[in-house]
Amino acid sequence: MIAGGIEAGGTKMVCAVAETSEDWREQKEPPHILARAQIPTGQPEETFAKMLDFFEPWDIVSLGIGSFGPLDLDRRSRTYGFVTSTPKQGWENRDFAGTFARARRIPVGFDTDVNAAVLGEVAWGAARGCETAIYITVGTGVGVGVYCNGGLLHGMVHPEAGHILLSRAPGDRYRGRCPFHENCMEGLASGPAIEERWGARAASLAGRREVWELEADYIAQAVADYILVYSPQRIILWGGVMHQTQLFELVRERARERLGGYVRHPMAEESIGEYIVPPALGEDPGVLGAVCLGLLEREYHKK
Ligand code: ADP
Ligand code: ZN
Repeated sequence: MIAGGIEAGGTKMVCAVAETSEDWREQKEPPHILARAQIPTGQPEETFAKMLDFFEPWDIVSLGIGSFGPLDLDRRSRTYGFVTSTPKQGWENRDFAGTFARARRIPVGFDTDVNAAVLGEVAWGAARGCETAIYITVGTGVGVGVYCNGGLLHGMVHPEAGHILLSRAPGDRYRGRCPFHENCMEGLASGPAIEERWGARAASLAGRREVWELEADYIAQAVADYILVYSPQRIILWGGVMHQTQLFELVRERARERLGGYVRHPMAEESIGEYIVPPALGEDPGVLGAVCLGLLEREYHKK
């Protein structure tokens, strides 16, 4: 059987169809992607139409959407499946999931981009078999997907753990990039924050040790807090900034220091190298996670 997924970003929509089977949970390998397309995120109508065109030839059993937010994920709400108060022009209060459910008459799973990514990694990647795991992306923004006790974490809205407040490193005079908070994780540690602080493209700063030490310090503060709050069994770190792979070792060391020996478990101590890791699904956790969201939605509708 064939299932669809959309990783919906502010600049592009990654659409894919994948070959899977009824026992997708037991599959050792992630579903094979049969076709994929990248569609620039324009105004909703034209973008929805182009995505529907991509899926049109495929007899998909379900569709999953992992989207930029904020989103309404409350099934009891009139606006469930909508993108809500986004600053992205034209997308405010748009019915994303419903548009596809009406056009295709199939189950449509809907969640945040980062929740989709953590789900994909739990199903087929680096967090396989975990009951609790998180996926942190450090890119244009900072987002955290939380899989908790066997399900994705929602709540009043959905977690926004990329905006937790951090203590500013001594000597860091950069004011931060988030318009809402002076010293939140996204404001101090996102790719654009690095670029504004140091006045150069992040990739071009690869050889500047002080840049990545400061960055690792902020990421590690957040990671230590997530360990204390969620007690994840795996932490997956990715996003454009983590292409500086030297960050992994620095973040592991500093997160351990930050915990101060309080959390006693081999995972957070001698095995930390297998605990804080990049995704196993390569560039695909988002879109494969979206496929997984759709498969879960199909099971939800069968019940
Ligand atoms: P998005 O968050 O928009 O989905 P990415 O996760 O790719 O996209 O993040 C893009 C950001 O990551 C860029 O703004 C840039 O600051 C940073 N970035 C991209 N490539 C690198 C790199 N090789 N090294 C460090 N930072 C990078
Ligand atoms: Zn913020």
